[in-house]
Amino acid sequence: MRNIFAVPIRDQILIYAPLHNLAALVSPTLALRLRDLLASGEPAGDGPLGELVDLLRDEVTEPAPLQGEFVPSALGLLPTRGCNLACRYCGFIASEETQFVMSLEMARDAVNWYMDQVQRSGAPHAEIHFFGGEPFCVEAVIDLAVHLAQRRAAEIGCTLRFEVATNGTFSEARCYWTADNLDTVVLSFDGPADVQNLHRPYKDGSGSFDAIARNARILSEGANSVYFRACITEATVGRMPEIATWFCQEFRPDAVSFEPLQPTPWSDNAGLVPPDPWAFAHNFIAAAQILEAHGVRPVYAPAEIGARQVTFCPVGKDFVIVAPDGVLTACYLLRGEWEARGLDLRLGRMNTDQNGAVQIDPEAVESIRGFNVHNKLFCAGCFARWHCAGGCHVNHILGSQPGDYDRLCIQARIIALYNILHAMHHDELAHTWLQDHAALARSVWQASDRLADRDGTL
Ligand code: SF4
Ligand code: SF4
Repeated sequence: MRNIFAVPIRDQILIYAPLHNLAALVSPTLALRLRDLLASGEPAGDGPLGELVDLLRDEVTEPAPLQGEFVPSALGLLPTRGCNLACRYCGFIASEETQFVMSLEMARDAVNWYMDQVQRSGAPHAEIHFFGGEPFCVEAVIDLAVHLAQRRAAEIGCTLRFEVATNGTFSEARCYWTADNLDTVVLSFDGPADVQNLHRPYKDGSGSFDAIARNARILSEGANSVYFRACITEATVGRMPEIATWFCQEFRPDAVSFEPLQPTPWSDNAGLVPPDPWAFAHNFIAAAQILEAHGVRPVYAPAEIGARQVTFCPVGKDFVIVAPDGVLTACYLLRGEWEARGLDLRLGRMNTDQNGAVQIDPEAVESIRGFNVHNKLFCAGCFARWHCAGGCHVNHILGSQPGDYDRLCIQARIIALYNILHAMHHDELAHTWLQDHAALARSVWQASDRLADRDGTL
């Protein structure tokens, strides 16, 4: 029963059992009958209710945290924490860490270590991601890592995939190279010129729009996957449908991910504030419909109902990220950001004075695997727990009381519910539900969505 949820959608109840891959809309009376039958174990008889009970009585296995031997699932390289832009919301701007640049020796040793692990474990696939700062500020590290990993993968006989998260301001020649050599490009691109230049200027204050628009066009024509990642503020939330339309008319991304601004002292100084969550959810859904009509996948990561996971991100997935100073971490944020929250996300370190020997700390591995939704009691009764998994371990501070949802929970819950109704082809109902604020609020503000916790008022 703990993985069977019931959420009111206007005058019906959405029964949602993600681990059974099941969703059904029923009347409140039927939902209570369903609860009682499941709790009592009584025979449910034939007919649609009986079928539903039978399906929901199937045993399911909850996603589990990783256990046992540490085998890196992917390698992340941070060539530098520095960047050529000075985005108005970026928390990296003032960090001392931005001065560090990864040496070529460290990049070589990290790739060799990772590919050795792939070979030793017999994994059929290797995965290398580049993050920053702006990774293309140190192109030599990317070139070396790509060529070395390709050679090692050919020797081992495994497949290999590269992904980069970039601001997309590289030269035209580098853009063609990227289109030809990297499999997925996640491009931070906030929208038309006025938005992009306001949010994401160069350090001298000039706009970055022209460079990124040119490169977004080149990448759109390449064979690789291109995701646009747009940061949304209170000022741009109402423009999400317009931004989606413009992205589709001007470019050909495979997916567009909209993310609400994560406030920093720098965004506060620039007068940029996060969007209202209700407005974000409404506008995301309007934008999603436009994107889908153009064959572009809309993404709001915490509401991806296809996911079944215990952690939202690399943390807890044995993903190893190598920082320019040789520290191995589970999270790509600056160390100071997670330390400020009292977290230690170090997995080990590379010893550059010992031929790049890599030390993984087993206690750190255990501790970081513990960052998972099983340990987030706040999320225990949320229907989205196996999709959102509690969100970012650093920046999403969960409430102390069940149902004490913050703006991130509110928008994740609305968008996930919309995604479920859309997947069920109940778009008309989804539309009327979204227009009915009282009904929407009833869906959002349930302290527990578990069917077993629903009382006679359901
Ligand atoms: S309670 Fe909030 S953080 Fe937890 S799973 Fe639900 S939406 Fe995500
Ligand atoms: S903890 Fe947050 S910032 Fe770090 S990798 Fe996960 S989602 Fe990203």
